Amino acid sequence: MREMITKIAEQLRSGQVTSVELTEKYISAIQQKNPILNAYVSTSFDLALEQAKLADEMIKKGNADILCGIPMTLKDNISTNGLETTCCSKILKGYVPFYDATAWANLKQKGAVLLGKTNMDEFAMGSTCETSCYGPTKNPIDITRVPGGSSGGGASAVGADLAVYALGSDTGGSIRQPASFCGIVGLKPTYGAVSRYGLIAYGSSLDQIGPLAHSVKDCALVYDAICGKDANDATSIDGAKNTASYLGKDIKGLKIGIVKEFFEGLNQEIAKPIKDSIDFYAKNGAEIVELSIPTLKVALPVYYIIACAEASSNLGRYDGIRYGYRVDKYTDINDMIKKTRTEGFGKEVQHRIMLGTYVLSSGYYDAYYKKARELRVKICEDFDNAFAKCDVLIAPTVPNTAFPLNYTCDNVIEMYLSDICTVPINIAHLPAISIPCGKDKNNLPIGMQIIGNKKQEQTILNTAYYFEKNSDIAKNL
Ligand code: GLN
Repeated sequence: MREMITKIAEQLRSGQVTSVELTEKYISAIQQKNPILNAYVSTSFDLALEQAKLADEMIKKGNADILCGIPMTLKDNISTNGLETTCCSKILKGYVPFYDATAWANLKQKGAVLLGKTNMDEFAMGSTCETSCYGPTKNPIDITRVPGGSSGGGASAVGADLAVYALGSDTGGSIRQPASFCGIVGLKPTYGAVSRYGLIAYGSSLDQIGPLAHSVKDCALVYDAICGKDANDATSIDGAKNTASYLGKDIKGLKIGIVKEFFEGLNQEIAKPIKDSIDFYAKNGAEIVELSIPTLKVALPVYYIIACAEASSNLGRYDGIRYGYRVDKYTDINDMIKKTRTEGFGKEVQHRIMLGTYVLSSGYYDAYYKKARELRVKICEDFDNAFAKCDVLIAPTVPNTAFPLNYTCDNVIEMYLSDICTVPINIAHLPAISIPCGKDKNNLPIGMQIIGNKKQEQTILNTAYYFEKNSDIAKNL
């Protein structure tokens, strides 16, 4: 795990390198490796070089932000004024937003250098990056495998050093799971801590933007730059701030909760490094508290009902009239909408729209959607009770390592099941970070998830940082 941002910021200030030189280096790495990895779906090199030039001037003047001049990337569902934003769906091809997402506007204002937009599962629905209309992204550690999803392009780009950091979005694991598959760090903040303005919606009560980077400190620095209440997002909140300055605190007396349901049926190869990591914390003064959250068993169906219901409503706007793609031949407006949606959306997105429409339709609403909402409240209460007994929870990020390419096409249910450890966190609006803690027999990375109570980003980042800095496990990865 490498602290890239602090190091590069120092190099930029000491004159060892300029942002323009650094940006050129990243551009040539992208030109060389992207044809294999397919991490970027569009690039903005001219803009990046312009931004880098301005950043160099800002740095020379002094007082520039730590992120100034640092080349980065955005998931293709984060709106960028003047740059195509497609959600990797045929239906949004050619759509160029005329405003910036708040998270990106915040980074831009600090002098960030945008290299381009990264690949994702279509509309962020998936765990492999294979449902993208641009074709799959490859995992930089093993190009026969997926990088995870849906923010797989960002994770692959960071893992392959094609960007210093990336912004992704996480509705049910889409930052943490690809971070785990690519051996990097990914933070899903508390719901609302980062504005969703300009993030193209999948499941609005679950979606959250967050960073993917090489180290905990890098994630903290990026989170600090993008967090905050935003008048353009009514669900945004004043959450944790200045988390990077809090890093380095001792963990003596920290209460770590281990929820047994997260470990039930878990493959030993994944369980062992996580248990060893928990032992590391215990040896260094943390107190381990054993817990049970029985409602975790229903988290997957609750997630898939709520996420699909919200998606079916959010994706209703893609009708061939207002945005992007429209078929050429049709008889009347209904025929046009039907054909546009049939051709514009991929199979997985169509499945979820149908499922969502079904659970919201009269006669089924009470049996599915209403019940899922009630169970969501119960899951939240169970997490509240857990956090009355501990400060953080430690769990696996994913019950498996990176899938081979094409594997989940025939094993969709297995793909959904692999979200078991990440979706409960979105359901309950909690923050969580995934950090590497081991490797399997194929040398593929394994991620550990540290989960906090709402607005407790400082605590989870510090807990992760302590492990990254002090454990032999992290040092030997
Ligand atoms: N894999 C989950 C899904 O397909 C999570 C996706 C996400 O977080 N965007 O819904």
